[in-house]
Amino acid sequence: MNDSLKILFVSTEVSPYSKTGGLGDVAGSLPAALRGKGVDVRVVLPKFGSIQPALVKDVAVAANFTVHLSWRAQDATVYTAGGETYFIGNDHYFGRDNIYGYEDDHERFAFFTKAAIEMLPHIGFKPDILHFNDWHTGLGPTYLRDLYRGFTFYSDMRSLFTIHNLNYQGNFDRQVLWDIGLNDGYFTCGDLEFYGKISFMKAGIHHAHAVSTVSRTYAHEITTPAYGYGMDGLLQKRNSEGRLFGIVNGIDTTANNPETDPRLYVNFNKDTLEGKRESKRRLQEALGLPQANVPMFAMITRLAEQKGLDIISVIMDELMSLDVQLVVLGTGEGRYESLFRGYAHHFPHKVSANITFDSTLAQRIYAGADFFLMPSVYEPCGLGQLFALRHGTIPIVRKTGGLADTVQHYNRATGQGNGFVFEDYVASGLMWAVHQALDVYGTPGWEPLVRAAMSGEFSWDYYAGEYVALYEKVMDID
Ligand code: ADP
Repeated sequence: MNDSLKILFVSTEVSPYSKTGGLGDVAGSLPAALRGKGVDVRVVLPKFGSIQPALVKDVAVAANFTVHLSWRAQDATVYTAGGETYFIGNDHYFGRDNIYGYEDDHERFAFFTKAAIEMLPHIGFKPDILHFNDWHTGLGPTYLRDLYRGFTFYSDMRSLFTIHNLNYQGNFDRQVLWDIGLNDGYFTCGDLEFYGKISFMKAGIHHAHAVSTVSRTYAHEITTPAYGYGMDGLLQKRNSEGRLFGIVNGIDTTANNPETDPRLYVNFNKDTLEGKRESKRRLQEALGLPQANVPMFAMITRLAEQKGLDIISVIMDELMSLDVQLVVLGTGEGRYESLFRGYAHHFPHKVSANITFDSTLAQRIYAGADFFLMPSVYEPCGLGQLFALRHGTIPIVRKTGGLADTVQHYNRATGQGNGFVFEDYVASGLMWAVHQALDVYGTPGWEPLVRAAMSGEFSWDYYAGEYVALYEKVMDID
Protein backbone atom coordinates (compact mmCIF):
# COMPACT_ATOMS: atom_id res chain seq x y z
CA MET A 1 0.00 0.00 0.00
CA ASN A 2 2.75 2.48 0.95
CA ASP A 3 5.45 0.63 -0.94
CA SER A 4 6.77 3.82 -2.41
CA LEU A 5 7.25 5.76 0.83
CA LYS A 6 10.91 5.97 1.89
CA ILE A 7 11.96 7.57 5.19
CA LEU A 8 15.31 8.29 6.81
CA PHE A 9 14.77 8.45 10.60
CA VAL A 10 17.54 10.52 12.21
CA SER A 11 17.95 10.36 16.00
CA THR A 12 20.75 10.42 18.56
CA GLU A 13 18.82 7.97 20.73
CA VAL A 14 17.58 4.64 19.42
CA SER A 15 16.78 1.92 21.95
CA PRO A 16 18.43 -0.53 22.65
CA TYR A 17 21.63 1.14 21.38
CA SER A 18 21.27 4.50 23.13
CA LYS A 19 18.57 5.85 25.41
CA THR A 20 18.18 8.50 28.07
CA GLY A 21 14.40 8.96 27.85
CA GLY A 22 11.28 8.68 25.75
CA LEU A 23 13.06 9.64 22.49
CA GLY A 24 15.07 6.41 22.63
CA ASP A 25 11.89 4.35 23.18
CA VAL A 26 10.14 6.01 20.24
CA ALA A 27 13.06 5.77 17.80
CA GLY A 28 13.54 2.16 18.85
CA SER A 29 9.97 1.04 18.25
CA LEU A 30 8.22 3.34 15.73
CA PRO A 31 10.37 2.39 12.68
CA ALA A 32 9.54 -1.30 13.06
CA ALA A 33 5.84 -0.48 13.21
CA LEU A 34 6.17 1.68 10.09
CA ARG A 35 7.82 -1.21 8.26
CA GLY A 36 4.79 -3.25 9.19
CA LYS A 37 2.76 -0.71 7.22
CA GLY A 38 4.95 -1.13 4.14
CA VAL A 39 7.15 1.95 4.65
CA ASP A 40 10.87 1.61 3.83
CA VAL A 41 12.45 3.18 6.95
CA ARG A 42 16.16 3.38 7.57
CA VAL A 43 17.32 4.59 10.99
CA VAL A 44 20.60 6.41 11.59
CA LEU A 45 22.33 7.20 14.90
CA PRO A 46 25.88 8.00 16.05
CA LYS A 47 28.15 5.06 16.86
CA PHE A 48 28.54 6.09 20.51
CA GLY A 49 31.30 4.52 22.57
CA SER A 50 28.66 3.71 25.18
CA ILE A 51 26.75 1.27 22.92
CA GLN A 52 27.06 -2.26 24.32
CA PRO A 53 29.63 -4.07 22.11
CA ALA A 54 27.41 -7.14 21.77
CA LEU A 55 24.75 -5.02 20.06
CA VAL A 56 27.10 -3.90 17.26
CA LYS A 57 29.33 -6.93 16.92
CA ASP A 58 27.90 -7.83 13.50
CA VAL A 59 28.11 -4.43 11.81
CA ALA A 60 30.37 -3.88 8.80
CA VAL A 61 31.54 -0.75 7.04
CA ALA A 62 29.05 0.39 4.41
CA ALA A 63 30.67 3.69 3.40
CA ASN A 64 33.47 6.09 4.18
CA PHE A 65 33.61 9.79 3.30
CA THR A 66 34.68 13.19 4.56
CA VAL A 67 32.27 15.71 6.11
CA HIS A 68 33.16 19.40 5.98
CA LEU A 69 32.24 21.81 8.78
CA SER A 70 33.64 25.19 7.70
CA TRP A 71 37.42 24.66 7.68
CA ARG A 72 37.23 21.27 9.40
CA ALA A 73 37.24 18.01 7.49
CA GLN A 74 36.17 14.99 9.54
CA ASP A 75 35.93 11.34 8.50
CA ALA A 76 32.56 9.61 8.70
CA THR A 77 32.44 5.83 8.62
CA VAL A 78 28.99 4.34 8.09
CA TYR A 79 28.30 0.91 9.61
CA THR A 80 25.31 -1.37 9.25
CA ALA A 81 24.40 -4.98 9.89
CA GLY A 82 21.19 -5.61 8.02
CA GLY A 83 20.70 -2.35 6.09
CA GLU A 84 17.90 -1.06 8.33
CA THR A 85 19.92 0.67 11.05
CA TYR A 86 23.02 2.74 10.23
CA PHE A 87 25.67 4.03 12.61
CA ILE A 88 27.82 7.08 11.92
CA GLY A 89 31.27 6.42 13.29
CA ASN A 90 33.87 9.02 14.22
CA ASP A 91 35.98 8.31 17.29
CA HIS A 92 36.85 11.93 17.92
CA TYR A 93 33.20 12.92 18.31
CA PHE A 94 31.54 9.74 19.56
CA GLY A 95 34.22 7.56 21.14
CA ARG A 96 33.34 8.94 24.58
CA ASP A 97 31.62 7.56 27.69
CA ASN A 98 28.39 9.56 27.48
CA ILE A 99 25.87 10.54 24.84
CA TYR A 100 25.52 14.21 25.83
CA GLY A 101 27.19 16.77 28.05
CA TYR A 102 30.32 17.85 26.18
CA GLU A 103 31.52 21.35 25.32
CA ASP A 104 31.47 20.58 21.61
CA ASP A 105 27.97 18.99 21.55
CA HIS A 106 26.92 21.53 18.91
CA GLU A 107 29.73 20.37 16.64
CA ARG A 108 29.25 16.67 17.38
CA PHE A 109 25.58 16.74 16.44
CA ALA A 110 26.06 19.08 13.48
CA PHE A 111 28.59 16.57 12.19
CA PHE A 112 26.21 13.67 12.80
CA THR A 113 23.34 15.43 11.04
CA LYS A 114 25.44 16.36 8.00
CA ALA A 115 26.91 12.87 7.82
CA ALA A 116 23.42 11.32 7.98
CA ILE A 117 22.37 13.38 4.95
CA GLU A 118 25.60 12.84 3.03
CA MET A 119 25.66 9.08 3.52
CA LEU A 120 22.53 8.65 1.39
CA PRO A 121 24.12 8.49 -2.11
CA HIS A 122 26.89 6.29 -0.64
CA ILE A 123 24.43 3.68 0.63
CA GLY A 124 22.16 4.01 -2.40
CA PHE A 125 19.06 5.11 -0.48
CA LYS A 126 16.98 8.05 -1.71
CA PRO A 127 14.30 8.85 0.88
CA ASP A 128 11.20 10.94 0.26
CA ILE A 129 11.40 12.44 3.74
CA LEU A 130 14.23 13.06 6.19
CA HIS A 131 12.65 12.74 9.65
CA PHE A 132 14.71 14.64 12.25
CA ASN A 133 14.11 14.36 16.01
CA ASP A 134 14.73 16.89 18.80
CA TRP A 135 17.35 19.63 18.95
CA HIS A 136 20.37 17.41 18.30
CA THR A 137 19.28 16.98 14.69
CA GLY A 138 17.49 20.34 14.45
CA LEU A 139 19.96 21.68 11.88
CA GLY A 140 18.89 18.99 9.42
CA PRO A 141 16.11 20.98 7.71
CA THR A 142 18.43 24.02 7.35
CA TYR A 143 21.21 21.92 5.85
CA LEU A 144 18.80 20.20 3.49
CA ARG A 145 17.34 23.48 2.29
CA ASP A 146 20.56 25.50 1.96
CA LEU A 147 23.36 23.02 1.32
CA TYR A 148 21.86 19.99 -0.43
CA ARG A 149 18.57 20.66 -2.19
CA GLY A 150 20.48 22.34 -5.04
CA PHE A 151 21.77 18.89 -6.02
CA THR A 152 19.52 16.69 -8.15
CA PHE A 153 19.79 13.75 -5.74
CA TYR A 154 18.28 15.82 -2.89
CA SER A 155 16.06 18.22 -4.82
CA ASP A 156 12.73 16.47 -4.09
CA MET A 157 13.37 15.53 -0.46
CA ARG A 158 11.20 16.90 2.32
CA SER A 159 11.99 17.32 6.00
CA LEU A 160 9.87 16.54 9.05
CA PHE A 161 11.04 17.72 12.48
CA THR A 162 9.57 16.09 15.60
CA ILE A 163 9.72 17.82 18.99
CA HIS A 164 9.91 15.31 21.85
CA ASN A 165 10.51 17.96 24.53
CA LEU A 166 10.54 21.68 23.69
CA ASN A 167 12.31 22.55 26.92
CA TYR A 168 15.63 21.10 25.71
CA GLN A 169 16.51 23.50 22.91
CA GLY A 170 20.21 23.28 22.07
CA ASN A 171 20.96 27.01 22.39
CA PHE A 172 24.59 28.08 21.87
CA ASP A 173 26.72 31.19 21.48
CA ARG A 174 26.72 32.99 18.17
CA GLN A 175 30.36 32.02 17.55
CA VAL A 176 29.47 28.36 17.01
CA LEU A 177 27.88 29.16 13.64
CA TRP A 178 31.29 28.59 12.07
CA ASP A 179 31.82 25.29 13.90
CA ILE A 180 28.57 23.93 12.49
CA GLY A 181 29.38 24.79 8.89
CA LEU A 182 27.17 27.87 8.58
CA ASN A 183 28.10 31.55 8.77
CA ASP A 184 27.19 34.71 10.63
CA GLY A 185 24.48 35.52 8.10
CA TYR A 186 22.30 32.98 9.95
CA PHE A 187 22.27 35.16 13.06
CA THR A 188 18.95 36.83 12.30
CA CYS A 189 15.53 36.52 13.84
CA GLY A 190 14.23 35.03 10.59
CA ASP A 191 16.80 32.27 10.87
CA LEU A 192 18.66 30.70 13.81
CA GLU A 193 18.89 33.62 16.24
CA PHE A 194 16.96 33.11 19.48
CA TYR A 195 17.23 35.70 22.28
CA GLY A 196 20.88 36.42 21.54
CA LYS A 197 21.86 32.78 21.01
CA ILE A 198 21.59 30.42 18.08
CA SER A 199 19.10 27.63 18.59
CA PHE A 200 19.15 24.18 17.01
CA MET A 201 15.53 23.64 18.10
CA LYS A 202 14.45 26.85 16.44
CA ALA A 203 16.32 25.88 13.27
CA GLY A 204 14.33 22.66 13.09
CA ILE A 205 10.98 24.32 13.72
CA HIS A 206 11.69 27.18 11.34
CA HIS A 207 13.01 25.37 8.29
CA ALA A 208 11.30 21.97 8.28
CA HIS A 209 8.58 21.35 5.71
CA ALA A 210 6.46 20.20 8.65
CA VAL A 211 6.80 20.00 12.43
CA SER A 212 5.22 17.42 14.68
CA THR A 213 5.15 16.64 18.35
CA VAL A 214 4.22 13.64 20.44
CA SER A 215 0.61 14.37 21.35
CA ARG A 216 -2.22 16.47 19.99
CA THR A 217 -2.70 18.46 23.19
CA TYR A 218 1.03 19.29 23.46
CA ALA A 219 0.96 20.44 19.81
CA HIS A 220 -1.63 22.99 20.86
CA GLU A 221 -0.05 23.87 24.23
CA ILE A 222 3.33 24.79 22.71
CA THR A 223 1.67 27.56 20.71
CA THR A 224 0.87 29.31 24.03
CA PRO A 225 3.28 31.35 26.20
CA ALA A 226 2.89 29.02 29.19
CA TYR A 227 4.31 26.01 27.33
CA GLY A 228 6.12 27.58 24.37
CA TYR A 229 9.47 28.34 26.08
CA GLY A 230 9.87 31.41 23.88
CA MET A 231 9.05 29.54 20.67
CA ASP A 232 5.24 29.92 20.88
CA GLY A 233 5.12 32.75 18.32
CA LEU A 234 7.08 30.76 15.76
CA LEU A 235 4.99 27.66 16.46
CA GLN A 236 1.78 29.69 16.02
CA LYS A 237 3.10 30.76 12.62
CA ARG A 238 3.92 27.20 11.60
CA ASN A 239 0.48 26.12 12.82
CA SER A 240 -1.28 28.82 10.82
CA GLU A 241 0.60 27.58 7.75
CA GLY A 242 -0.86 24.10 8.35
CA ARG A 243 2.55 22.66 9.18
CA LEU A 244 2.20 21.70 12.87
CA PHE A 245 0.89 18.25 13.84
CA GLY A 246 0.55 16.08 16.96
CA ILE A 247 0.63 12.28 17.14
CA VAL A 248 0.66 10.47 20.46
CA ASN A 249 3.37 7.86 21.11
CA GLY A 250 2.65 4.17 21.23
CA ILE A 251 4.49 1.56 23.29
CA ASP A 252 5.94 -1.83 22.49
CA THR A 253 3.02 -3.94 23.68
CA THR A 254 4.92 -7.19 23.18
CA ALA A 255 7.84 -6.30 25.44
CA ASN A 256 5.35 -4.75 27.90
CA ASN A 257 2.85 -7.57 28.12
CA PRO A 258 1.95 -8.58 31.72
CA GLU A 259 0.79 -11.93 30.39
CA THR A 260 4.26 -12.95 29.18
CA ASP A 261 6.86 -10.56 30.67
CA PRO A 262 9.50 -12.79 32.34
CA ARG A 263 10.56 -9.92 34.61
CA LEU A 264 7.28 -10.02 36.55
CA TYR A 265 6.78 -12.09 39.71
CA VAL A 266 3.46 -13.34 38.37
CA ASN A 267 1.97 -13.10 34.88
CA PHE A 268 -1.64 -12.08 34.48
CA ASN A 269 -4.15 -10.63 32.08
CA LYS A 270 -7.43 -8.79 32.48
CA ASP A 271 -9.28 -12.04 33.13
CA THR A 272 -6.83 -13.29 35.76
CA LEU A 273 -6.58 -10.29 38.06
CA GLU A 274 -5.77 -12.49 41.07
CA GLY A 275 -2.31 -12.54 39.42
CA LYS A 276 -2.16 -8.77 39.81
CA ARG A 277 -3.08 -9.04 43.49
CA GLU A 278 -0.33 -11.63 43.97
CA SER A 279 2.09 -9.28 42.13
CA LYS A 280 1.33 -6.61 44.72
CA ARG A 281 1.88 -9.00 47.61
CA ARG A 282 5.25 -10.13 46.20
CA LEU A 283 6.27 -6.52 45.59
CA GLN A 284 5.38 -5.56 49.17
CA GLU A 285 7.44 -8.50 50.40
CA ALA A 286 10.43 -7.52 48.23
CA LEU A 287 10.29 -3.88 49.33
CA GLY A 288 9.77 -4.62 53.01
CA LEU A 289 6.26 -3.18 53.18
CA PRO A 290 3.46 -4.85 55.20
CA GLN A 291 1.55 -7.31 53.02
CA ALA A 292 -1.72 -5.55 53.66
CA ASN A 293 -4.55 -5.11 51.22
CA VAL A 294 -4.34 -1.31 51.18
CA PRO A 295 -4.26 0.93 48.09
CA MET A 296 -0.73 1.21 46.70
CA PHE A 297 0.34 4.37 44.87
CA ALA A 298 3.44 4.36 42.66
CA MET A 299 5.74 6.80 40.90
CA ILE A 300 8.43 5.76 38.40
CA THR A 301 10.08 8.86 37.08
CA ARG A 302 12.99 11.20 36.62
CA LEU A 303 12.92 13.26 39.82
CA ALA A 304 12.59 16.61 38.03
CA GLU A 305 10.29 19.57 38.58
CA GLN A 306 8.50 18.77 35.29
CA LYS A 307 7.05 15.63 36.85
CA GLY A 308 4.90 17.50 39.40
CA LEU A 309 7.02 16.74 42.45
CA ASP A 310 6.38 20.09 44.07
CA ILE A 311 2.66 19.39 44.50
CA ILE A 312 3.45 15.82 45.51
CA SER A 313 5.59 17.23 48.32
CA VAL A 314 2.64 19.36 49.49
CA ILE A 315 0.24 16.39 49.73
CA MET A 316 2.71 13.97 51.34
CA ASP A 317 1.56 14.60 54.93
CA GLU A 318 -2.09 14.20 54.02
CA LEU A 319 -1.31 11.05 52.04
CA MET A 320 0.50 9.63 55.06
CA SER A 321 -2.60 10.22 57.20
CA LEU A 322 -4.49 7.71 55.00
CA ASP A 323 -4.28 3.93 55.08
CA VAL A 324 -2.21 3.65 51.88
CA GLN A 325 1.28 2.72 50.65
CA LEU A 326 3.55 4.69 48.31
CA VAL A 327 6.33 3.16 46.20
CA VAL A 328 8.76 5.52 44.46
CA LEU A 329 11.39 4.58 41.87
CA GLY A 330 13.45 7.43 40.49
CA THR A 331 16.63 9.41 40.38
CA GLY A 332 17.27 13.08 39.80
CA GLU A 333 17.35 16.30 41.79
CA GLY A 334 18.72 15.93 45.32
CA ARG A 335 15.87 17.82 46.98
CA TYR A 336 13.33 15.29 45.68
CA GLU A 337 15.52 12.30 46.47
CA SER A 338 15.79 13.59 50.06
CA LEU A 339 12.05 14.20 50.23
CA PHE A 340 11.22 10.56 49.56
CA ARG A 341 14.11 9.18 51.60
CA GLY A 342 12.85 11.29 54.51
CA TYR A 343 9.28 10.01 54.29
CA ALA A 344 10.49 6.41 53.91
CA HIS A 345 12.52 6.89 57.09
CA HIS A 346 9.57 8.27 59.08
CA PHE A 347 6.90 5.97 57.58
CA PRO A 348 8.75 2.70 56.81
CA HIS A 349 5.48 0.75 56.82
CA LYS A 350 3.96 3.12 54.23
CA VAL A 351 6.70 4.43 51.93
CA SER A 352 9.34 2.60 49.89
CA ALA A 353 11.85 5.00 48.28
CA ASN A 354 14.02 3.38 45.62
CA ILE A 355 16.48 6.05 44.51
CA THR A 356 17.98 4.13 41.61
CA PHE A 357 17.40 3.29 37.94
CA ASP A 358 16.13 -0.28 37.63
CA SER A 359 14.10 -1.46 34.64
CA THR A 360 13.12 -4.79 36.19
CA LEU A 361 11.86 -3.20 39.39
CA ALA A 362 10.01 -0.67 37.23
CA GLN A 363 8.06 -3.45 35.50
CA ARG A 364 7.28 -5.10 38.84
CA ILE A 365 5.94 -1.84 40.21
CA TYR A 366 3.82 -1.20 37.10
CA ALA A 367 2.39 -4.70 37.62
CA GLY A 368 1.91 -4.60 41.40
CA ALA A 369 0.66 -1.10 42.20
CA ASP A 370 -2.97 0.08 42.17
CA PHE A 371 -2.45 3.73 41.20
CA PHE A 372 0.22 5.56 39.19
CA LEU A 373 0.82 9.21 40.12
CA MET A 374 1.85 11.52 37.25
CA PRO A 375 0.78 15.10 38.09
CA SER A 376 3.17 16.70 35.57
CA VAL A 377 3.65 20.44 35.07
CA TYR A 378 3.92 19.65 31.36
CA GLU A 379 4.16 16.31 29.56
CA PRO A 380 4.84 16.13 25.79
CA CYS A 381 3.48 12.57 25.70
CA GLY A 382 4.55 10.54 28.71
CA LEU A 383 5.09 6.80 28.58
CA GLY A 384 4.77 5.96 32.27
CA GLN A 385 0.98 6.29 32.24
CA LEU A 386 0.81 4.00 29.20
CA PHE A 387 2.94 1.29 30.84
CA ALA A 388 0.77 1.64 33.96
CA LEU A 389 -2.50 1.28 32.02
CA ARG A 390 -1.09 -1.76 30.21
CA HIS A 391 -0.61 -3.38 33.65
CA GLY A 392 -4.01 -2.37 35.02
CA THR A 393 -2.53 0.29 37.31
CA ILE A 394 -4.82 3.29 37.30
CA PRO A 395 -3.18 6.62 36.44
CA ILE A 396 -3.84 9.78 38.43
CA VAL A 397 -2.68 12.60 36.15
CA ARG A 398 -2.86 16.29 35.46
CA LYS A 399 -4.70 17.22 32.30
CA THR A 400 -1.75 18.29 30.14
CA GLY A 401 -0.04 17.16 26.93
CA GLY A 402 -0.10 13.44 26.25
CA LEU A 403 -1.66 12.75 29.66
CA ALA A 404 -4.77 14.61 28.51
CA ASP A 405 -4.82 12.58 25.30
CA THR A 406 -4.44 9.15 26.89
CA VAL A 407 -6.20 9.27 30.27
CA GLN A 408 -9.94 9.96 30.58
CA HIS A 409 -11.48 10.74 33.96
CA TYR A 410 -13.53 7.87 35.35
CA ASN A 411 -17.25 8.47 35.49
CA ARG A 412 -18.87 6.43 38.25
CA ALA A 413 -22.32 6.71 36.73
CA THR A 414 -21.43 5.41 33.27
CA GLY A 415 -18.27 3.41 34.03
CA GLN A 416 -16.48 5.30 31.24
CA GLY A 417 -12.85 6.36 31.64
CA ASN A 418 -9.51 4.79 32.56
CA GLY A 419 -8.04 7.04 35.27
CA PHE A 420 -8.40 10.14 37.41
CA VAL A 421 -7.69 13.57 35.98
CA PHE A 422 -7.37 17.02 37.55
CA GLU A 423 -6.79 20.29 35.72
CA ASP A 424 -4.91 23.06 37.53
CA TYR A 425 -1.38 22.59 38.79
CA VAL A 426 -2.29 22.87 42.48
CA ALA A 427 -1.94 20.39 45.35
CA SER A 428 -5.67 20.59 46.17
CA GLY A 429 -6.46 19.40 42.62
CA LEU A 430 -4.14 16.45 42.99
CA MET A 431 -5.59 15.59 46.40
CA TRP A 432 -9.11 15.81 44.97
CA ALA A 433 -8.14 13.27 42.30
CA VAL A 434 -6.54 10.99 44.92
CA HIS A 435 -9.80 10.98 46.91
CA GLN A 436 -11.85 10.34 43.78
CA ALA A 437 -9.61 7.36 43.10
CA LEU A 438 -9.82 6.00 46.65
CA ASP A 439 -13.61 6.28 46.56
CA VAL A 440 -13.70 3.75 43.72
CA TYR A 441 -11.02 1.40 45.07
CA GLY A 442 -12.57 -1.81 46.36
CA THR A 443 -16.10 -1.01 45.13
CA PRO A 444 -17.89 -3.15 42.52
CA GLY A 445 -16.74 -0.65 39.89
CA TRP A 446 -13.05 -1.25 40.61
CA GLU A 447 -12.28 -4.40 38.64
CA PRO A 448 -14.22 -3.25 35.55
CA LEU A 449 -12.12 -0.06 35.69
CA VAL A 450 -8.88 -2.06 35.86
CA ARG A 451 -10.03 -4.22 32.95
CA ALA A 452 -11.00 -1.13 30.92
CA ALA A 453 -7.55 0.36 31.55
CA MET A 454 -5.88 -2.83 30.33
CA SER A 455 -8.07 -2.97 27.23
CA GLY A 456 -6.88 0.40 25.86
CA GLU A 457 -5.16 0.63 22.48
CA PHE A 458 -1.56 1.77 23.00
CA SER A 459 0.35 -0.17 20.39
CA TRP A 460 2.48 1.51 17.74
CA ASP A 461 0.62 -0.53 15.21
CA TYR A 462 -2.28 1.84 15.70
CA TYR A 463 -0.38 5.15 15.83
CA ALA A 464 2.10 4.27 13.06
CA GLY A 465 -0.88 4.60 10.73
CA GLU A 466 -1.15 8.24 11.76
CA TYR A 467 2.54 8.75 10.92
CA VAL A 468 1.97 7.24 7.49
CA ALA A 469 -0.88 9.71 6.92
CA LEU A 470 1.38 12.56 8.11
CA TYR A 471 4.22 11.48 5.80
CA GLU A 472 1.76 11.46 2.91
CA LYS A 473 0.65 14.97 3.86
CA VAL A 474 4.26 16.18 4.07
CA MET A 475 4.82 14.93 0.51
CA ASP A 476 2.22 17.48 -0.61
CA ILE A 477 3.81 20.40 1.29
CA ASP A 478 6.33 22.57 -0.53
P1 ADP B 1 10.53 11.20 30.21
O1 ADP B 1 10.93 10.78 28.82
O2 ADP B 1 10.12 12.65 30.32
O3 ADP B 1 11.54 10.85 31.26
P2 ADP B 1 8.42 9.23 29.96
O4 ADP B 1 7.24 8.89 30.82
O5 ADP B 1 8.11 9.54 28.52
O6 ADP B 1 9.21 10.42 30.65
O7 ADP B 1 9.43 8.02 29.95
C1 ADP B 1 10.13 7.64 31.11
C2 ADP B 1 10.60 6.20 30.95
O8 ADP B 1 11.70 5.97 31.82
C3 ADP B 1 9.54 5.18 31.33
O9 ADP B 1 9.77 4.04 30.51
C4 ADP B 1 9.87 4.86 32.79
O10 ADP B 1 9.42 3.58 33.16
C5 ADP B 1 11.37 4.92 32.75
N1 ADP B 1 11.98 5.29 34.04
C6 ADP B 1 12.03 6.52 34.62
N2 ADP B 1 12.72 6.47 35.79
C7 ADP B 1 13.12 5.19 35.94
C8 ADP B 1 13.87 4.50 36.95
N3 ADP B 1 14.37 5.14 38.02
N4 ADP B 1 14.10 3.17 36.79
C9 ADP B 1 13.61 2.52 35.71
N5 ADP B 1 12.89 3.13 34.72
C10 ADP B 1 12.64 4.43 34.83
